[in-house]
Amino acid sequence: MPPDDASRGAAQGRATPSEHKRLVAVYPGSFDPVHRGHIDIAKRAAALVDELIIAVYATPNKKLLFSTDKRADLWRKTIAEEELANVRVEPFEGLVIDFARSVAAQSIVRGLRAVTDFELEFQQALMNRKLAPEIETIMIVTDLRYLFISATLLKEVARLHGDLDGIVTNTVAAALKKRLSIGE
Ligand code: ADP
Repeated sequence: MPPDDASRGAAQGRATPSEHKRLVAVYPGSFDPVHRGHIDIAKRAAALVDELIIAVYATPNKKLLFSTDKRADLWRKTIAEEELANVRVEPFEGLVIDFARSVAAQSIVRGLRAVTDFELEFQQALMNRKLAPEIETIMIVTDLRYLFISATLLKEVARLHGDLDGIVTNTVAAALKKRLSIGE
C-alpha cells in the first residue's frame, strides 16, 4: 500500500496536518500613525500565519507625533474596522527578537516599499538572524498603490491640511486632525 500524506510528511521531517505547529509572526514598527501601506502588509502577513502580532515600538529613535498608547489604539480600531480576525496589537520596548521570543513567534514581518528600504531592512534582518537564528525575517513587498506612502510624508500633508483619502483610514485622519489642531 502506498504511504499516506501523513506518514510521507513525517518521514521527511515535515509537520503533518494533525500536528500543525501554531504559526505566529510579529510585525514591528513605530506606526506613527498606521497607514494604508501598513494595513496592506498586515493583511498579507495575516494570511500566512495563525496569529499576527502588531508590535508597536514604544521608544523608536525618531520624533513621534502620537503616544505609544494612541498608536496602539489606532491600530486596534483599524483591526476592528478592517475585520482582521487573527491580528492583535501589543506595545513593546527593547529588541524585536526578545519580544518575538516572548510571544513564541517564529518570524518577523517587514514591509518593503522601494529599493531604499531594502538596504536597511537587509542589514536589520541579518543582525536579527545573528541575535536569534531561530527567527526568520519575512519581507513583504507593498502594493503599488502604497509605494509612495510614508508616515513622515503623510504627517507633513496632514499639517498642511492636505487630503489623506486613500492614505489613512477616516479614524486615523480624524486623530491626526485633532492632534495637530491641539498642537498648533
Ligand atoms: P519603522 O519600523 O522604521 O519605524 P514604520 O513604523 O513606518 O517604520 O513601518 C513599519 C514597517 O512597515 C516597516 O517594515 C516599513 O518598511 C513598512 N512600511 C512602511 N510604509 C510602508 C508602505 N507604504 N508599504 C509597505 N510597507 C511599509
